[in-house]
This record gives sequence, C-alpha cells and structure tokens, in this order.
Amino acid sequence: MWGANCTTSQLPGECQAGAVQFHVSDLNKEIPVTTSNLNQIPLQDEVLILGGGVAGCAASIALARKGRSVTLIEREPTPRHKVCGEFLSGEALEDLHALGIDVASLGAAPIHYVRLAAARRAAEAPLPFPAASLTRRALDTALIAEAIATGVRVERGRSVQALARTASNVWQATLDDGTTREAPTVFLATGKHDLRGYARPSDPQRWVAFKMYFRLAPAQAAGLSRASELMLYPGGYGGIQPVEGGIANLCCVVQQRYFERAGHRWENFLAKMQQDCPHLAMRLAGAQPLLAKPIAITHIPYGYIRRTSENGLYCIGDQAAVIPSFTGDGISIALHTARCAVAAYLAAEPAPLFQAKLRSALLFQMRLAEFAADGLNNALARAVLPFCLRVWPGVMRVTAKLTRVAQHAAVAPMQAPAEI
Ligand SMILES: Cc1cc2nc3c(=O)[nH]c(=O)nc-3n(C[C@H](O)[C@H](O)[C@H](O)COP(=O)(O)OP(=O)(O)OC[C@H]3O[C@@H](n4cnc5c(N)ncnc54)[C@H](O)[C@@H]3O)c2cc1C
Repeated sequence: MWGANCTTSQLPGECQAGAVQFHVSDLNKEIPVTTSNLNQIPLQDEVLILGGGVAGCAASIALARKGRSVTLIEREPTPRHKVCGEFLSGEALEDLHALGIDVASLGAAPIHYVRLAAARRAAEAPLPFPAASLTRRALDTALIAEAIATGVRVERGRSVQALARTASNVWQATLDDGTTREAPTVFLATGKHDLRGYARPSDPQRWVAFKMYFRLAPAQAAGLSRASELMLYPGGYGGIQPVEGGIANLCCVVQQRYFERAGHRWENFLAKMQQDCPHLAMRLAGAQPLLAKPIAITHIPYGYIRRTSENGLYCIGDQAAVIPSFTGDGISIALHTARCAVAAYLAAEPAPLFQAKLRSALLFQMRLAEFAADGLNNALARAVLPFCLRVWPGVMRVTAKLTRVAQHAAVAPMQAPAEI
C-alpha cells in the first residue's frame, strides 16, 4: 500500500522522562527495558490492562492507587514515536497532573495560540485554555514509569494475540509467546490497534497519517513559538507545533486517494502540501528533517464511539472513541475515558452499562467535531475560513471550546465508588 520511501516502521530512540533537552541524537537512543516484578506475577490478577499507552497507563495507575492488583501488557519493549500531533489540551494537562506527571519538568513547550492557515491566508486566536506539547515518547515513558512506581506489574515487549472468556467466566489473554494471563476484568486500551474479535469498523475515507520532526530555521522557530498551527489543503489537514528541545512536530492526515495522486510518496505529498498551503512552505524553508522517514499509520475510524461491551470488559482511549485529530483532544479523551472506566469498575458498574453511558456522554461533541472536520475539508471553507477568522477571531476560541469532549462528557457511575 505504501510507496517505497514511506513505511509504517517505528523508529528507535528515546527522550527520557525527566530530560528537558531534546537533541537529534536523542531520536536514536534506546532506553533500557524495565519490566517490573515479572517473577512475582500471580496466576490471576484483579484487572488486566491490554495496551500501555495513555489510556492503559492512566487506568493502571488509578487502579493501583486504589490498592488493586493490576497487570499491564504492552507490546513495545520501550516507548516509541507514535503518530500524534502531541498537543496537550487543558483537560489533558489536569488529568496528567493528577496522575503525577509534570509535563513542564519533561520540557513540554507551552502553547498559547492557535493559528489557522489555508490557501494564502492565516489567522490566529489565543487558546481559551492552557495547553502544551510534548513528544509521545517522553509522555509514554513518564506514564509507564509512574505505573511501575505505583505498583502495577508491567510486562513489556509482549503482544496480546487473543482475548476470550474461559469456562470459569474469567477473561483470558493469550500472548505472542503462547502464555496466557487471566483476570475477571479487562481494560482494552490497545489504541489504534484492534484485537481480533474486537475490531472497530472500517475507515471509509481511508485516512493516512504522518508525523515528522523538523529543526526549523531560527526565524521560523521564533514565528512558531507558543503556537499550534493548523493547515488546510485538499484531502486533509496538518498541524505543526513546537515540542521540547526546540524542534517542531509536523503531523498531517490525508485521504488515501489524495496520497495516491502523490504517487504514494512522502516527498511528493510534502511538496504538494506546501504548494497548496504557502504558510507551511514558509515554515519549512530551511528546515532540517530529523527522522530518516516519517512515521505513518492507516485506518483511523474518525467519529467511532463504541456502543457497548461485554461484562468485565471496559474499553478506553481510542478503543472507546476516535475524535478527528484537528481537535488535539485524543489524549484528553484517553485520560478521561480511563478515569471514568476506573470509577465505574470501582463502583461495580457493569461494563456494558458504562460503555453505553460513555457513548451518550461523548456523542454530541464527537458529532460536532466531525461536522467541523467535514467543514475543513471543503474547498470553499478553505478559501474563506482564514478571512472570516481574521474578521471574527472569537469563533476559533468558541470552536476550540466546543470540541473539547472531556470537559463536556463526565460520566458518573451509578453509585459512589466502593473503597475496597
Ligand atoms: C494524526 C493524528 C494526530 C493526533 N494528534 C493528537 C494531538 O495533537 N493531541 C491529542 O490529544 N491527540 C492526538 N491524536 C490522538 C491520540 O494520539 C490518541 O487518541 C491517543 O494516543 C489514544 O490513546 P490510547 O491509550 O487509546 O492509545 P495509544 O496511546 O496508541 O496506546 C495504545 C498502546 O497499546 C499497545 N498495543 C497495541 N496493540 C497491542 C497488543 N496487541 N498487545 C499489547 N499492547 C498493544 C501499543 O503499543 C500502544 O502503546 C492524534 C491522532 C492522530 C491519528
């Protein structure tokens, strides 16, 4: 499916938790595998968490803090780059703070403005909430370290191949080495990767997403300082913003048929984006790419919200809902759904009921975000939006506020959480 120069390969490297500086060489460092207490794994835990990204780590930390025995299974031996704009909204920052993650000490770049660029125009507005940006590797490293410190048994470098109920009605996860882990309750947090038997629907638009780091020319880095820029072009949109260490993250999505027109090649697609959006060309003038190839993913079922689940199976993060990327709200939703699912579990609320309540709580903002995303993909909107936003910058603040899902979608369990 991919052109010869565009692979989904993930790149080795590390930006260690606690490190403020981010150097090009950091992109190529490995971190040691830290697998906690593997020899002490009991045959059965109270909760099994499948996937150690944002949602899985957040849920595991919250459960361990309540004294639950939790095993988390993560397929990557060390946190890697993930395709993500790496924007952290106000709600995400609050949730991370509550989990003990101080993004400022990890070097996160503060974001104060959103700037929209399309055709030859650009308009900006201050964000109505505090925001920041941090590489996913730094964030995921800090989260998994916090999970281990909280007492979660973390098994890394193990991929879950199958999930099923046993005759004795417990969940059984089969790992890639053929061994199994059992628990009465499972939190499914495998993000964009579906487990066999629990797949989300197909993505009819066939979205393709890329992430690439750049070191910008000094004047362009100064121009991008404290801003998250959203760029519109036919077939998709992209965002560029500073992350820690003085580098910039360019993350973009495009429908497959537009990528086909670029011959399935990243270089051609990057050139086309800059041609369609001169603002991006200006930003990237003299920029140095920091990865040999972009990181890429396909199959992003934007707008998906899980309808229900089975008893003892709580679905969180991208396994619960997938919001259009331009909102920069996916991490916040992952943290929020993890927090709500933990509260539901502690209150003994059945997973199918939790999942249905979560769906109705998320539905309105999700549909609004989808509607806005459709608008961004419209040629007329691309032509007039920056002009309208210059005349009425307040609309950008309103849109940013309205599409914050977590803020509007609190899901309280039926009864107060039981402190067991
Ligand atoms: C193009 C794009 C840009 C985005 N930009 C932003 C942004 O700027 N801000 C924002 O807030 N959100 C953004 N998002 C959304 C955000 O990245 C996701 O919503 C968020 O990462 C979801 O968290 P998660 O925990 O569900 O999944 P993840 O963080 O992806 O974690 C899932 C984990 O499960 C592991 N896993 C997968 N399969 C298995 C298996 N079989 N066995 C064991 N482990 C497994 C993976 O290795 C991974 O670590 C963006 C998304 C896209 C596609």
